[in-house]
Amino acid sequence: MIFKKEKIERQITLKKDTRDGILSYCKMNHPNEGMLILKGKSKKGNVTIDGLVVPPFSESGPTFAGFPHSFLPFDLSYVGTVHSHPSGSAKPSVTDLHNFFGLVSLIVKSPYEDDDIFAWDSNGDPIKLTIS
Ligand SMILES: [Zn+2]
Repeated sequence: MIFKKEKIERQITLKKDTRDGILSYCKMNHPNEGMLILKGKSKKGNVTIDGLVVPPFSESGPTFAGFPHSFLPFDLSYVGTVHSHPSGSAKPSVTDLHNFFGLVSLIVKSPYEDDDIFAWDSNGDPIKLTIS
């Protein structure tokens, strides 16, 4: 007999205000990448994002935006990061996956409109994203 292991369907909920904040930040940094830390709550695989933090010591450039994780203060409300892809692709790069932080990585592709935000897990698989 085969028992199906129940798969936890993860879901990301992004507050509308936070979404708008991300989009303006990405537009502001264009053509460079912009990166922000996502604040929120996680409950049984469901993550609600309701705040943004500008990372300390962030480096911005046309190809990669990152920060040394060791500089990040330990904070349980940090659920992940968001960064922009000025190139127009929303797929996480190898570097993105290598630098994965937290539970979710949001990627915003150019031109940073409402439908240009995508959520990914640490394997590079897409996660359902809902705007509320
Ligand atoms: Zn990237």
